[in-house]
Amino acid sequence: MFIVPESEIAALIDRKSSFDAVESVFAAMSSKDAYNFPVIREAIGHADALYGFKSGFDRKSLALGLKSGGYWPGNEAKGLTNHQSTVILFDADTGKVKALVGGNLLTALRTAAASSVSIKHLAPENAKVLGMIGAGHQSAFQMRAAAEQRDFEKVIGWNFHPEMLSRLADTASELGLPFEEATLEQIGSDADVIISITASHDPILMDAHVTGGTHIACMGTDTKGKQEVDAALVARATVFTDEIAQAISIGECQHAIANGTLKESDIIELGAVINGDHVGRSSDDEITLFDGTGVGLQDLAVASAAVDLAIKKGVAIEVDF
Ligand code: NAD
Repeated sequence: MFIVPESEIAALIDRKSSFDAVESVFAAMSSKDAYNFPVIREAIGHADALYGFKSGFDRKSLALGLKSGGYWPGNEAKGLTNHQSTVILFDADTGKVKALVGGNLLTALRTAAASSVSIKHLAPENAKVLGMIGAGHQSAFQMRAAAEQRDFEKVIGWNFHPEMLSRLADTASELGLPFEEATLEQIGSDADVIISITASHDPILMDAHVTGGTHIACMGTDTKGKQEVDAALVARATVFTDEIAQAISIGECQHAIANGTLKESDIIELGAVINGDHVGRSSDDEITLFDGTGVGLQDLAVASAAVDLAIKKGVAIEVDF
């Protein structure tokens, strides 16, 4: 088996290879060549930690395996990242373990790639203003990946903790874009693309905030009880997702489904748009919303790409196992 340590990932896999891996696995999910297994996520009653597995199989690429990990809130005080994850890949022909891959940076790259794929396929073509809601660790990855899909002229941003907004300003400046702090009303009326990436449990972006044609990528809600967007806004939008089963249970759609304003059959897989089976955006003034819940197959796709590159570059550690 091969080991690809966390410390090697940054030099191996970039935004382009993450984007390509995620776009093709979304397409494979929609054509039923790839499927995710049920997610396990448990509060383990130790260190206040949430721990779980996301797993799946892609018959096209033969990626089989799982991402294991979770959230340890006390890690930062120990100089470690609170989110911890590791990917294990198996040989689909024999079941033998194939690779152990550091999954922390891969998680950020595959999450940013997912919203970036949604922007490519759903955002208004002439989008000029990018609105960011959230300024945590993931937000910088999200902004960099989004900026590759449209010729944005400006980034505007809001965060629950305004003292964190410097991350958005710094990332915009790295991309050569001006940044302005904005109210949620301004984001809703001025942004052509909005990304929400927070740990919120209450709606932040309300239905009344959003006017005109907009694409909203909801990326923070990945657990039951979390919410970033008003359920009425979800009900008004044309809704796309990575996986419908996750969207209605742990994603942003869970609330509009629960109050009966959205039906499961209203939700479209982003893969259907990638495969040409759904038109995607049908008019400039439409609101499209991508519920990016984060699926195990995304992790397997980027981890497989990282292992292939590590073997090619001679940095994968081979172990007799
Ligand atoms: P982080 O801890 O670095 O940042 C947290 C962000 O949430 C900050 O912007 C913070 O101000 C905001 N926040 C915290 N409490 C809030 C509240 N009560 N109301 C509104 N905002 C609040 O986290 P991160 O690594 O940037 O991750 C952000 C979110 O994205 C998390 O909820 C995480 O679970 C989720 N996530 C989703 C995926 C996916 O695939 N969909 C992948 C990775 C992370």
